[in-house]
Amino acid sequence: MAISARARALSLLGEDVIAFAAGEPDFPTPEHITAAAARACYDPKNHHYTANAGLPELREAIAAYTKEFSCVEVDSSEIVVTNGAKQAVFQAFAALIDPGDEVLLPVPHWVTYPAGVELSGGVPISVPTSIEAGFKVTVADLEKFQTERTKMLVFVSPSNPSGAVYTAEEARQIGEWAAANNVWVLADEIYQRLVYHVDLAPSLAHETPRFENWVLVNGVAKSYAMTGWRVGWMVGPVDVMEAAARHQSHATSNVANVAQQAALAALTGPQDTVEEMRQAFDRRRKLMFSMLDDIDGFTCIEPEGAFYTFPDVSAVLGDRFPTSADLANAIIEQAHVALVPGESFGAPGFLRLSYTTSEREIQDGIERIAALVRG
Ligand code: PMP
Repeated sequence: MAISARARALSLLGEDVIAFAAGEPDFPTPEHITAAAARACYDPKNHHYTANAGLPELREAIAAYTKEFSCVEVDSSEIVVTNGAKQAVFQAFAALIDPGDEVLLPVPHWVTYPAGVELSGGVPISVPTSIEAGFKVTVADLEKFQTERTKMLVFVSPSNPSGAVYTAEEARQIGEWAAANNVWVLADEIYQRLVYHVDLAPSLAHETPRFENWVLVNGVAKSYAMTGWRVGWMVGPVDVMEAAARHQSHATSNVANVAQQAALAALTGPQDTVEEMRQAFDRRRKLMFSMLDDIDGFTCIEPEGAFYTFPDVSAVLGDRFPTSADLANAIIEQAHVALVPGESFGAPGFLRLSYTTSEREIQDGIERIAALVRG
């Protein structure tokens, strides 16, 4: 967000800035969704407080959606509608983490996870991965960092920032390990429909049917280009959801009803725009990946999901750019391209670039980066 602010400041000065920093689709929200929201504005039933855990019809729709895309049967009592997936992540930690509890976070990880763990009194424990391992952890990696205080694992597939997607077998092994070791899993599935090699990202909850200590986090932000509407949800055991709903009742109450009605239209209306956006991301993904991979000193693996590339740039670091944060800084200041250094994800030596811009901007932006790196 700091880099996006710098990019906006440069744009205001009249500079031609290319933005690869944002974690959101560049498309507007599909028309049938905004139309439903506009109608909802005029209906007085949406003008008042509603249930903290969400509108009953939206929770029903989320149950059906979870069945379709995560392949698990859940009841609407096992769902809480939240202000974006971010609040769901936070409330899962608040409900389950006691002071001193350790939460395993595979690296690279989204910045909000360690912050949320710490705000709940827990201790984030980074579990390193490597580009060679496709940025994925194995049970052996997790076991190295497991202690008697290990309470939870955060499992994100597809991943922000690496774009890694776990196979069904990999998800099953990790789920079985969690079940056997009494470790909760927070499975963040917000990018589940933005995958390019499979039809759907396998859900850990589906792959490990005898395991019940999971909380799924999901939302409309990424698949429906609805980041600004702030509607996400959490799915999990009723007692955990009741605790989360109580937390929410004191923190924020119900999610804005108009936004919930928009989310309902998104989940129950036509789905062709989801596929159109996915195909656009796929074209951009291929272009960005191949151009980055051609830059001398950048090593990239093909991302299989979400909308990020995560090249290893350690080979170009040295006197000119001591760290990836310095390189990201030089790229925004000199090439006017905004991206995020790996430091933000616990992974110095990498950069994250979002391909949520046009192909023309991708072409231009990566050429500028290549020219800067060449010197
Ligand atoms: N999970 C992950 C992995 C994300 O990348 C993001 C957004 N950057 C979120 C959750 C939060 O999504 P929302 O906008 O619904 O709060």
